[in-house]
Amino acid sequence: MGFKVKFWGVRGSIACPTANHLAFGGNTSCIEVSAGGTKIILDAGTGIRSLGTWFMRKDVQTATILMSHTHWDHINGFPFFAPAFDAGYSFHVMAGHLADDGGIREVLAGQMAQPMFPVPIEAMQGAITYQDFRAGEAFTLPADSRISIKTTPLNHPNGATGYRIEYAGKSFCYVTDTEHVIGKPDENVLGLIDGADLVVYDSTYTDDEFPAKIGWGHSTWQEGIRLCRAANVKRLAIFHHDPDHEDRFMDGIEAEAHLEWDGSIVAREHMRIKLA
Ligand SMILES: [Zn+2]
Ligand SMILES: [Zn+2]
Repeated sequence: MGFKVKFWGVRGSIACPTANHLAFGGNTSCIEVSAGGTKIILDAGTGIRSLGTWFMRKDVQTATILMSHTHWDHINGFPFFAPAFDAGYSFHVMAGHLADDGGIREVLAGQMAQPMFPVPIEAMQGAITYQDFRAGEAFTLPADSRISIKTTPLNHPNGATGYRIEYAGKSFCYVTDTEHVIGKPDENVLGLIDGADLVVYDSTYTDDEFPAKIGWGHSTWQEGIRLCRAANVKRLAIFHHDPDHEDRFMDGIEAEAHLEWDGSIVAREHMRIKLA
């Protein structure tokens, strides 16, 4: 069955479904990982709505949902994740930044509380379990002990967790949202991504835009390349695109990034990458 990644949402901050965003996609963060017969979902941005429809069509009945953090663009799709409302499905939701802060269930329930949303989290009839851990911990996936997970805290307001998923001798890392310090590579990120086959990295800005955005919690595609080179990573997927970066601008980033390092690609909605 292999080890595969599919992008369902690649945008940061807010969904932007305009004609000028169609080539790269307007939905916010959501990635499907298939490892053998096991499914992992990274984040529940607006991309998870289509993923849910796909799961129901393909009768995929269970998955683990790993949350980077709980800013809106990473959780807004959760109330629209249709299989969660169906008793035939089960999901295990995990997060690493809320162990001391109420826990992941409370935050997801909060976004569905009245008067922000008409239907409470209790309306989800699927068997949904929630688990908090501390970013930095390593564990095997509760659903499948052949899949090992390493995590690290990221540099982001309210905290965020970076993940490394290892299966079948390959490794995939998900590193968003995080801010770098100019000239000082993040040791936590370097340790997490060391030698990885594919790294998805917060590339919200360009190096030119970055100085005006210090403190906003995001990084650049150039920093992604610097980190991946330093850590002997095979491929970088530029991710969490700024909604202000329309398709024409993203085409420019794609060309520039490829010139800079041929291991770099720009993530697009519905793009698939096979790791094993
Ligand atoms: Zn984000
Ligand atoms: Zn964020």
